[in-house]
Amino acid sequence: MNSIADNLGTVTRRIQKATQAAGRPDGAVSLLAVSKTHPPSAIRDAATAGQRRFGENYLQEALEKMEALSDLSDLEWHFIGPIQSNKTRDIAARFDWVHSVDRLKIARRLSDQRPAGMAPLRICLQVNIDREASKSGADPDEVPALARDIAALENLELAGLMVIPDPNQAESSLRASFRRLAGLLATLQEQTTDGPIPQTLSMGMSGDLEIAIAEGATLVRVGSALFGPRG
Ligand SMILES: *Cc1c(COP(=O)(O)O)cnc(C)c1O
Repeated sequence: MNSIADNLGTVTRRIQKATQAAGRPDGAVSLLAVSKTHPPSAIRDAATAGQRRFGENYLQEALEKMEALSDLSDLEWHFIGPIQSNKTRDIAARFDWVHSVDRLKIARRLSDQRPAGMAPLRICLQVNIDREASKSGADPDEVPALARDIAALENLELAGLMVIPDPNQAESSLRASFRRLAGLLATLQEQTTDGPIPQTLSMGMSGDLEIAIAEGATLVRVGSALFGPRG
């Protein structure tokens, strides 16, 4: 089995190659290492190899890992899993980013519960771009209004949009989904008249990061290609 450091090198080269192929500048795409179900030692190995941004899906598991890794002070933590109302307080206090916000009620709670003195919590609005009935994410039609309301919340910064497309679709329709998300971000950028302009397109995973980067991803969320299969 390859080491995590080897995998990190491979994924980094994939990202660089796809970024260049798309004619985009070096460094245009950052890597979020998705460490769900993997032990703190795996995160430590990746951190030793230079990785700083980590994504977690389950709050309790994430808090335990943060505790075990508290000697590593410069890690950036991203919450990417479904959010229940009773979890927002710890998410607001312990994370730097949240990618999975899809309704205003949750955004309001995160803003209200962000501790005083911390930087604004960076938010990606999750979009159900394929309008799958069973999936989380805001309907694309709701995105402009929801984005405006989230951007107005005091302790949040609307950083951009996130999508988890249906993995069982043909490459051409996957590509079209990513392209629609990029179009929605462009609309938000045009509608932003004051405050920071949202820049983040959180899209692409181990199997499809090249397609996502070709369509404008600025952050890819990669789990199994770095840490191996999940048990
Ligand atoms: C697990 C997960 C990933 C990583 O998926 P891989 O296919 O293992 O790279 C990315 N994003 C989200 C939201 C996830 O839950």
